Amino acid sequence: MEEHNSGKPKSLSLIKPFDPWQSPLCTCLPKYSLNPYTGCSHGCLYCYASSFIPRFYEARPKGEFIKRVTKDLKNLPENSLISLSNSSDPYQHLEEKIKLTREFLTLLTETSHKVIILTKSDLVLRDLDLLERLKVVVSITITTIRWTNILERGAPSFERRLNTLKILHKRKIPTVVRLDPIIPGLNEREVLEILEEVIPYVEHIVLSTFKAKKDSLDRIENAFPHLKGYLKKLYLAEGEKRGWSFYLNQEKRKNSLMPLVEKILSYNKSYSLCREGLEGYTFRYGCDGRFLLDVPRGTNLS
Ligand code: SF4
Repeated sequence: MEEHNSGKPKSLSLIKPFDPWQSPLCTCLPKYSLNPYTGCSHGCLYCYASSFIPRFYEARPKGEFIKRVTKDLKNLPENSLISLSNSSDPYQHLEEKIKLTREFLTLLTETSHKVIILTKSDLVLRDLDLLERLKVVVSITITTIRWTNILERGAPSFERRLNTLKILHKRKIPTVVRLDPIIPGLNEREVLEILEEVIPYVEHIVLSTFKAKKDSLDRIENAFPHLKGYLKKLYLAEGEKRGWSFYLNQEKRKNSLMPLVEKILSYNKSYSLCREGLEGYTFRYGCDGRFLLDVPRGTNLS
């Protein structure tokens, strides 16, 4: 399967070993991570990266990006898996003009490396010509149908993301949907609806409850008056602190996730839980959908 750990790369400038902010519950197998941009213009209120990265919502390109990634790609072990991106969207607004992601994917076509693209944007369709030449999985995150304008004010609508999945699926590009984050009192029911809509077009679904930070809790409570005080009670008073994040308690996480798991299994699709730490629910093929790079399409993985 993966050979990306078969030797320590010499020196890396932008492509780094994936580090999920030291989350003790991350079940991701080793991979590399690349962010062409620092910060993100999608403006998601729930974003956890904003608590680590200064001026997070003022996105800017990484300096000397092409020169640095070209060198990094040469220093990676053969067949490395690169996750693009984990703390910004590679297809956010700047990409329309600057095209760092496109340039990177172009470089990647000359290598043996594989890529998992994580995005909320239909701009990924611009690069279909490259995707068809790459070992790639495209993972689209969807959180809401109704609240995009408030919750993710800079990101494309649900309809545009659904249409993206349909096109990728038709072009036989392996797809994953992340239903993430599931926020109590806001989208718990809506994610079931989303699941029904997307499931014909995806091979794998990743589920994740909202992992709160103090800044993201404030932003969401301020934007949704009916949640004022409610989320802080659930997370700060009744929840659990795991690493740098506040979690719902285990029972609430299970109650939130299990209806979705049952629904996914009824469609005979595979799923994984992201950083939930719930015993008995570890997906053995790699939670991020990397198995789709190696497993023939249509294989039953449930
Ligand atoms: S798309 Fe991702 S990185 Fe960008 S603001 Fe939203 S959650 Fe944060």
